[in-house]
Amino acid sequence: MTSAERMKRVRRHGTEPEVAIKRQLRAKGERYRTQALLPGTPDFVLVRRGRVLFVHGCFWHGHGSCRGGRLPKRNASFWAIKIERNKRRDQSVARKLRRLGWCVSVIWGCQALNSNLLERRLQRILR
Ligand SMILES: [Zn+2]
Repeated sequence: MTSAERMKRVRRHGTEPEVAIKRQLRAKGERYRTQALLPGTPDFVLVRRGRVLFVHGCFWHGHGSCRGGRLPKRNASFWAIKIERNKRRDQSVARKLRRLGWCVSVIWGCQALNSNLLERRLQRILR
């Protein structure tokens, strides 16, 4: 996948990972909101649990241990700076939310696209 293709995927709403998570949350009878007016606009807000979920694309949010988080060889330093900035922003958003009393969870795109992994991840989060 080229960087331009990655960019297109990210801008789109209702990405595959989000859809997969929605499906599993519904199957569990979990109620959630999307597009809540909270710092960083979390992808899912589980109001009754006081928990927000972010679905992070592996490339843009720098999933270090995964193939999708690898930087392109071309313009590597450009990308490194950009991704680093995103990670810092993610951290500051999470801090703000925690200060407001929310629990913050991140589900990586690669986890969401593997239904067994996602199932386990959600089980842990919703325990
Ligand atoms: Zn990943």
